[in-house]
Amino acid sequence: MSDQGSELAGRVAIVTGGGQGIGRATALELARLGADVVVAELNAEGAERTAKEVRGVGAKALALPTDVTKLADLTRMVDRVRADFGRIDVLVNNAGIYRAALPLDVTEEHWDTIMTVNARAVFFASQAVLPVMIAQRRGAIVNLASMAGKIGSPNNLPYNVSKAAVVSMTKSLALAHAKDGIRVNCVCPGFVETDMWTKVARDQGAVMGISAEEFTRRRAQAVPLGRMERAEDVAAVIGFLASDRAGYVTGQALSVDGGLVMHG
Ligand code: NAD
Repeated sequence: MSDQGSELAGRVAIVTGGGQGIGRATALELARLGADVVVAELNAEGAERTAKEVRGVGAKALALPTDVTKLADLTRMVDRVRADFGRIDVLVNNAGIYRAALPLDVTEEHWDTIMTVNARAVFFASQAVLPVMIAQRRGAIVNLASMAGKIGSPNNLPYNVSKAAVVSMTKSLALAHAKDGIRVNCVCPGFVETDMWTKVARDQGAVMGISAEEFTRRRAQAVPLGRMERAEDVAAVIGFLASDRAGYVTGQALSVDGGLVMHG
């Protein structure tokens, strides 16, 4: 049996967008597994809040105000983590945004904004961290894709495209860096009750002409395991993929969605 609480001991993890939701739950999970955690987050207050909670678990934490869409911020993030901790073992590319619109209403601005945060930043954050992992000959990257990256949706085409791009870059990065001792995987959550879900339900409900509550009720009913997803459901699987227990797993897009998607 693995020794829960120490399998990431001595490791250093960066969680982007760790100020709330899935990122916050992931920061706490990695800390419980023994890692020190860097919360790289746009919202400085949220970053501080999570860092405080991580310290409460007994791990070291650094709150690092970071906009993952800015290459200068990513460079600064890597330099600071190296200076403070000396290594980077885990990168969780979690920061993401959501917007709904019917295909005919999607603007260039909508497309570019979603792709810049959800896809482009995942690649360039990985590119910024990879040289450190290559030098260590060890590292694990876990990206937040989504069930949306495996299926079509009528009301949020750019979001789905961005998450399919994450699935794709996960595979290419996994192949490119397997020889360096680096594993790259992504998780594909379903309907996770976070602030993002509040926006999903409101925006998609509006597009469909139903209330946010009715939208959520219908979605919850569609989940085979019979309930909405918790941030902790996702964090547990990210913790596994980040750890040596998943040492023979790379290039995978693992559904964590209560049974919603059973292909691909
Ligand atoms: P959330 O909106 O609750 O949290 C997202 C966090 O990312 C926020 O703290 C936000 O400040 C941060 N962020 C946004 N843009 C950023 C930027 N440019 N730089 C740094 N930080 C930034 O969302 P969540 O539900 O916790 O989602 C986390 C991830 O999981 C996202 O990638 C999302 O697409 C994915 N996901 C969510 C669901 C869901 O149902 N909630 C389902 C599948 C996948």
